[in-house]
Amino acid sequence: MEYIFAPHAVAALPVTGSTGRFPVRRIFCVGRNYADHAREMGAVDQAEGREPPFFFTKPGDAVVGGGDEIAVAYPPLTANLHHEVELVVALGAGGANVAVDAAKDLIFGYAVGLDLTRRDLQARAKEKGHPWDMGKGFDQSAVAGPICPATACGHPAAGRIWLSVNGQVRQDGDLSAMMWKVPEIVANLSTLVRLEAGDLIYTGTPAGVGPLVRGDRLEAAVAGVGALRASIV
Ligand code: MN
Repeated sequence: MEYIFAPHAVAALPVTGSTGRFPVRRIFCVGRNYADHAREMGAVDQAEGREPPFFFTKPGDAVVGGGDEIAVAYPPLTANLHHEVELVVALGAGGANVAVDAAKDLIFGYAVGLDLTRRDLQARAKEKGHPWDMGKGFDQSAVAGPICPATACGHPAAGRIWLSVNGQVRQDGDLSAMMWKVPEIVANLSTLVRLEAGDLIYTGTPAGVGPLVRGDRLEAAVAGVGALRASIV
């Protein structure tokens, strides 16, 4: 195959305990998967009942990770960049119409991630019924720590998920509060698209989202999975 220019390098994340890196294919994100966050966003209906999960995407090369402290450039055209700490599912195998019971077979591992959001652009899009893409899928919008293989960390269904900014804890939840559990998310998403190895799924954020400014230093962790540090530059 001869390309008219060199293909772009594949975005990849470090893997805990391995020198091999995880090549990222696509990035899917679940909206409003913790009732307390759905409430803080004013989506009371979703918090009360279990509506079907809904998904949005980020480009695969929006991922940024690796290193002791991940430097994230404050993105353009926003005055309200928000943090959302999330458990990230990393797929090591693909499939369509996957049963809930078989969903774990697709999962390579897990990471701590930040679904960075230009909240002002997202709010404007919601008002107008426009797509969320430019509020959610900008460059470096998908921060991720190293991937912990499920062979080492299992398949966490409960455990603390938290984020601090400049040493102040802002988000502090538990994975057990997810409305849609990881195997259900994988199964549901696999009815919409054929999932493939390399896909990442951001599984939603607990309450406490808020704005970031240049110079902020973030720490985030999921118990049993790992941690990340990032700075907004
Ligand atoms: Mn999110």
